Amino acid sequence: MNKKKIKQFQQKLSRWYDKNHRLLPWRETDDPYLIWVSEVMLQQTQVNTVIPYYTNFIRLFPEVSRLAASDLQKVLKAWEGLGYYARARNFHRASRILMAENKGQVPDQPIDFQKLPGVGDYIAAAVQSIAFHHPLPVVDGNVKRVLARLFQINDPVNHSSAHSIFKSAAMTLLDIRHPGNFNQAMMELGALICSPKKPGCRDCAVSVFCKAFQDHHVSEYPKRLKRKPSPEYHIAVGIVRKNSKFLITQRKPEGLLGGLWEFPGGKVRKGESAEQACVREIKEEINLKIKIDSFFTRIKHAYTHFKIIMDVYYCSHVSGRVKLNGPVDFQWVTRNQIRKYPFPGANLKFIQYITEES
Ligand code: SF4
Repeated sequence: MNKKKIKQFQQKLSRWYDKNHRLLPWRETDDPYLIWVSEVMLQQTQVNTVIPYYTNFIRLFPEVSRLAASDLQKVLKAWEGLGYYARARNFHRASRILMAENKGQVPDQPIDFQKLPGVGDYIAAAVQSIAFHHPLPVVDGNVKRVLARLFQINDPVNHSSAHSIFKSAAMTLLDIRHPGNFNQAMMELGALICSPKKPGCRDCAVSVFCKAFQDHHVSEYPKRLKRKPSPEYHIAVGIVRKNSKFLITQRKPEGLLGGLWEFPGGKVRKGESAEQACVREIKEEINLKIKIDSFFTRIKHAYTHFKIIMDVYYCSHVSGRVKLNGPVDFQWVTRNQIRKYPFPGANLKFIQYITEES
């Protein structure tokens, strides 16, 4: 597109956005911290899922100082079920750095902002363009799809090697006078009109600029690399009871689901039954001898790169004292205390049944 066309594109997109954008809670503020909260949550998560989490989070932690002063467990509890918990841990760490080094202020320069944990390209561009009007293009999944169709980009949207190509395409279109609005408009176009399946090209404000639409090739874009099917693991988990209390353990602070609590268990090995795996894992990780009382439920859950089938058993403590080998903490909790702890999504799928039982 030449300069004149780019200008026309920006004007059409901007007019469409002004009339059609959704009223979302984070669009009603210019507070950089609140915008940052929303963008951390929106990474890899749908808008409708984020809204109640965002509302609750800013009620609990309305400013950097409140987040920094909070215990990580409280932050993880507010994040419970949203997934990608490293986002919450990094955000919490970043708030403490800001309190220690920047009087709790969100840096207004991208170079300083990007030094904070968890602030990558996407967060930096989104927060700095929306809150401080820096001319940085946002390139998320929605924007990549729009760009792939607008320019008929043949590089795969789901491979990091092509990221710079999409970024420079976004840069050529970016309205540097209104970068925040432009970025939000591109994301909104991808979310509302230029959807993955059946995009609404007939209602699209920028269809005259869209190569794929003009060439009748919309269904061929974006290009994607085929991924291997994700592996599936069989997990056995024990709800260990002793004197009307249940045993829960805490995962290491780093890595997948780091810092969250769970019912103990682990992977079923080849040639082993789920019951045997449950007994073995609890002995290995917690040093308790248990016996299986009954099968409780089977849960299926998908993570980004793998899936699990989780068999859950009611168990009784037979002998031994807890000695941790893997988990970093444990608690015997009553039915009513369970929900005070942050748990991963797979555990949440059955916890409600335990807490509802009388
Ligand atoms: S014309 Fe269709 S494919 Fe092109 S940007 Fe608009 S909605 Fe997307």
